[in-house]
Parts: sequence; structure tokens; C-alpha cells
Amino acid sequence: MTNTNGQTASHRNELTSEEKRVIINKGTERPFIGKYTDSKAKGTYTCKWCDAPLYQSGSKFDSHCGWPSFDDEIPGAVKRNPDPDGSRTEIVCANCGGHLGHVFTGEGFTSKNTRHCVNSISLNFKPYDPTENQQKPETAIFAGGCFWGVQYLFEKAPGVLKSEVGYTGGTKSNPTYKEVCSHTTGHVEAIKVTFDPQKTSYEALARLFFEIHDPTQANGQGPDIGPQYLSVVFYADDNQKAVTEKLIGILKQKGYKVVTKVLPATTFWPAETYHQDYYEKTGGAPYCHVYAKRF
Ligand SMILES: [Zn+2]
Repeated sequence: MTNTNGQTASHRNELTSEEKRVIINKGTERPFIGKYTDSKAKGTYTCKWCDAPLYQSGSKFDSHCGWPSFDDEIPGAVKRNPDPDGSRTEIVCANCGGHLGHVFTGEGFTSKNTRHCVNSISLNFKPYDPTENQQKPETAIFAGGCFWGVQYLFEKAPGVLKSEVGYTGGTKSNPTYKEVCSHTTGHVEAIKVTFDPQKTSYEALARLFFEIHDPTQANGQGPDIGPQYLSVVFYADDNQKAVTEKLIGILKQKGYKVVTKVLPATTFWPAETYHQDYYEKTGGAPYCHVYAKRF
């Protein structure tokens, strides 16, 4: 069994004798002494014994009873047992069975009408980390002819953090430009785009890809003829694949005879330094790529 923290049910932290008295032997800490009684910090309260997440700070309220009070638990995290005293309901960690306290209903403190009265000593607290759920940069790999021109246009797209030209889809490790041009390695010239998914999307970049090269040209791209210049989308996951196939479907409906291949991404070998940002460095502009609205 694995809890939502990724630990197995057998995971147990060492407990002090006072913690054992409360958590294992179902004791009660004295009121108004617990470290979380008046805490207002944003975060998650976890089980002292097994680290399972139990309560979010948003469900904590001030009951003035002397112990931390919550009007709701994280779904499935807390188990209720009839207390041996015959009148109360004991609450324990659903993962490890550690004693937490008691739950009371019908007191009218909050709209949920429920008070989990929990010993501070049964809890740990994990402060909210605003960076934890931030979306990380994602990557996309496209091949659409001479990579100088593709990079020139992608670098100007919103949300693109960086791009790199290179070779992919072939058989040899660390291919050189000369080897790729010799058509013996099976690689195509490609671009790897790193983007911020909060500022753009894979779909926006894939649409751009289909509009800055000609996806209907079968033997290369523009004046660049040969297998290293073919149109290919190298997808990183099922979502990228589905988005690409959807866009190709739209283009075909519009009458474009799209020949773009859709292949799973394999190792991307960065090209030699002099190929990177070629037009930026040389002050030129692409002869082979120009934006054309197709969607
Ligand atoms: Zn636990």
C-alpha cells in the first residue's frame, strides 16, 4: 500500500515517549500547549508517525478549545472509530492507525458543522510551497528543412525560452553535419524548442511549424532537396502526437496534401556551434522559410 506521499504503509517515524503516549496509546496532550493550536500558516498537516497528508490549512479554524481544529479532512485520510468511552468518536490516521484525537459534529462552528479536535503532537506541518506546482518548461522537436530558417522563426515566437538546432531520427550517435549531409545516417535537420507552457502551448508551436514551412513538399524543403530536409514532427508524448494528428487533419480538410511524418522522439544531437542561431549571428534572413497562414 502506498499513501499519497509515496511512502508505504510500513513507513514509520521514530516517536518520543510523549508522542508514543498520544499516538500509540491514545493519550491527549494538555490543551493550549500544542505548537499548532493557533497556527494560521498555509500548508498541509501530515501524520507525525507515517507522514501521510491529513488536513489542509484551509480547513483549520479557531475553536478556542485548546487544540488544533479542522472542519474537514483530506478525503480518505482520517478514519473514525467509536471511542472506548462509549460517547465520543475517535479519529486515527487512515494509513497507519496513529491516534489523532476526536471528531465532534453539530457544534455550529463552521458551515460543515464538524470539528476534528487533533493533538498537535500527532501532526507535522509542511508549509505551502508556491513553486511546487508551477509548470516546468516543456520541449518540442520539429524538422522542416534547413534548420537555420526554422530556428530563426521559432526564436521569435512568444513563450519560447530557447531553441537548439541538431540532428535526430537517425542511427548514428553524435552525427556531424558532414555525415548527415552524406545521407548515410538517416538523420534529419531538426529544432528542439524549449517553451514555457504558461505563455504558449505545444499546439501553438505546432501550428507555427506548419505555417513556416511547406508540409506538402515530399522531397525536401524549398530549394533544399534530400532526406535530411524532410518534414517530421517528433512527438514526446501521446498529447503531442494527438495535437499533431489533429492539426494535420485540419490541413488535409483544407485541401493540403500533407506529407509530414509523425514519429516518436529519439535522441536529439545538437548541431555544431556554428549552426546555432546562424541568421542571428550572420545578420541574414532565411531564404527557405517564410510565414504563410494555413489554419
Ligand atoms: Zn499515519
